Amino acid sequence: MPTESNDSTDERRETALSSAEESDLDRMRHLASLISRYDVEYHRDDAPSVPDGEYDARKRELIELEARYPEFADPNSPSQRVGAELSALFSEVVHARPMMSLDNAMDSDELRAWHGRVMRGLAAAQPTLFDDDANEDGDGNVADPGAPEPELICELKFDGLAVSLRYEQGRLVQAATRGDGRVGEDVTANVVTIADIPRELSAASPMPEVIEVRGEIYLPVDRFRELNEAQARARHALSEAVEGARQRLAGTAEDIPTTEQRKLESLAKLTPVDVQRRHPDYANARNTAAGSLRQKDPSIVATRGLSFWSYDVGEMVGGPDLGSAGEVFDYLGELGMPVNPEIRTFGTLAEVEEFCRTWERDRHRPSYEIDGVVVKVADLPLRSELGYTSRAPRWAVAHKFPPEERTTKLRRIMVSIGRTGRATPFADMEPVFVGGSTVSLATLHNQDQVAAKDVRPRDTVIVRKAGDVIPEVVGPVLAERPSDSEPWCFPDECPSCGSKLERNEGDANTYCRNRTCRDRVIQGIGHFVGRGALDIEGLGERTIVTFYERGLIAGPADLFGLIIDQLVGLEGFAEKSANSLLVEIEAARDAPLARLLIGLGIEHLGPTASELLARRFGSLRRIVAANDEELAAIDGIGPIIAASVTSFFADKGNAALVERLDQAGVRFDRVDGELDAPQVLAGKSVVVTGNLDGWHLSRDEAKAVITARGGKTPGSVNKSTFALVAGANAGQTKLDKAADLGVPILDDNGLRTLLETGELAAG
Ligand code: NAD
Repeated sequence: MPTESNDSTDERRETALSSAEESDLDRMRHLASLISRYDVEYHRDDAPSVPDGEYDARKRELIELEARYPEFADPNSPSQRVGAELSALFSEVVHARPMMSLDNAMDSDELRAWHGRVMRGLAAAQPTLFDDDANEDGDGNVADPGAPEPELICELKFDGLAVSLRYEQGRLVQAATRGDGRVGEDVTANVVTIADIPRELSAASPMPEVIEVRGEIYLPVDRFRELNEAQARARHALSEAVEGARQRLAGTAEDIPTTEQRKLESLAKLTPVDVQRRHPDYANARNTAAGSLRQKDPSIVATRGLSFWSYDVGEMVGGPDLGSAGEVFDYLGELGMPVNPEIRTFGTLAEVEEFCRTWERDRHRPSYEIDGVVVKVADLPLRSELGYTSRAPRWAVAHKFPPEERTTKLRRIMVSIGRTGRATPFADMEPVFVGGSTVSLATLHNQDQVAAKDVRPRDTVIVRKAGDVIPEVVGPVLAERPSDSEPWCFPDECPSCGSKLERNEGDANTYCRNRTCRDRVIQGIGHFVGRGALDIEGLGERTIVTFYERGLIAGPADLFGLIIDQLVGLEGFAEKSANSLLVEIEAARDAPLARLLIGLGIEHLGPTASELLARRFGSLRRIVAANDEELAAIDGIGPIIAASVTSFFADKGNAALVERLDQAGVRFDRVDGELDAPQVLAGKSVVVTGNLDGWHLSRDEAKAVITARGGKTPGSVNKSTFALVAGANAGQTKLDKAADLGVPILDDNGLRTLLETGELAAG
């Protein structure tokens, strides 16, 4: 595409555009109208339909097209505007100084490009500060790589919404949203309910007559979680009411008054999807914060738990002369405004880049959401020299983190069958890079979840992946749904074996009940040999499928009958690899009982409970023979686990599996360490974290021994934690929490004493 703007090109453009250019211009207009719509959804209605990453990608494309075709760019393009038009909900406030947006830098190159512009801007404004032989670059700007770098202040980019708080004579008189940058909405009545925002400023000298404090209102992550937990409780209560209504209507004995009868009938009609729709999850903290602040009823706002960080001053009359951003923050702090503790000032861009990298890695560490780092020139007179574009300061840039939500096409919804026969729908999508990895599959959990989200094949869907968390389909982008789309129907038959799928009343899951269903068997064998169970290396899913399809194995016990001649020549197996697999299988015959129990895949029986059973009973035969009461008598084994264990072994197929394992020579009684250890840790909870290499026990062993002594080993520290066992590279959050709560932190010696005595070592 031509970028030069010489006469001949201009002429050609006036007369005729090539078809490629025509289509670029169409795309440019399409993007402008799309982005205007997204702006309204996001800024005015607090209900965006696409993720921010998607919005940013499209806006970037628009800006590139406008730069390529400046003569065709609309001067009112959304790329030139701040925010969106206002809603009629609140009265208008004209800002004494405009509230601007920020330009984005999506990566280090863009951050460096911004820095280059700043350097050139300063050099042009203050040529005397720089070398005499400063040279001009192609844009006509003065550039000098040897010029001194201005100090840069780095602040976290809080993901909330900007407000301007106006204090007169130290009293909060008005709070306004950013709106379109010039005019915002008056949200004073709502803002005064936010505990972090002082109604009166603390005494500072000098006290300004007027000061506009600019900053971000946000919803802390914990509060966001609590709001969603409350929604989940409301769903649960409603589901119970629905169930209760159905039971009462089904009972024949009772005479129900007509009005009540009607109420019960309308309740009884509600499906799980209706329940989900009545109390939906809040999508993310930013939109919940924005939606909360723009509630009509301040008493609702008060319950939401919003917070605030200040980051700038707008108009100020009668305050001190402030020369740098550092001084601004000190002064805001003196006035009693919340100032974020993570702000840092640096002398070089290299340090700024390091700061950005660190926060990109730690973005989920703070108790509030951040979506980037804002880098600003620290010196205020230099800021004045750099000035503003129509929508953003030139002296600041938002270095945005890579998006954790993107959209992609949902190719189809498929159903997988697990080892218990559970049929789980999952999304097969066009691969998309999100949250640091490429994602093409995501679970949709169960039939009701698919219906509640109403995701359909060929939909454009929002995919979310935050850090190490497993990817999730958030929902469809309805505006992009094909017009002939149909809701997806859960299959009636198992996609693996064709038997009828069953769903019990009141259960969200659907099952294939056929024990010999191919996928169930393969998944069951995979579980049996997996990491937490018999841990047979070299036996991945593909190999299991090959063995199964060749008729070499039909269940876990058959693995122990494999011989070398059967393996050599199969895909991936030469003599050496076949031999090493057989050695691994041989070793697995002698696996500890607790692992064998895990391998059997008994519902509700996790590693801790397996360890408890192994230590108390000492052999699989004794566990098989135990009844519910004997099992439930063990501290840590509740009635649900006990019932699940007895019913597992009561099942004929499972009993047969136990016999076959026995015949195959699998050991049933290996319990490492002592049986029935003294219960010195009964009722105590001990958290184990970090790498225990070089300690007298491995991390798994430490946990097992703590459990065997009656203790619990939860995954996080809280005020009821008795001690934290911390090895190398222990989780910082756990260490901080333990230090905060005064929970003792133990090394190897401390752990020894604890296991022997149940007490902490003296001193
Ligand atoms: P922005 O959010 O990228 O940057 C400006 C804003 O950053 C400021 O107004 C302020 O609210 C905030 N901010 C947070 N910490 C700050 C700090 N320390 N210093 C200064 N400001 C700080 O720009 P914007 O114009 O508010 O919104 C554009 C962004 O909003 C887009 O990049 C996109 O991520 C999102 N958006 C999404 C949609 C959508 O449909 N999903 C639509 C519109 C906008």
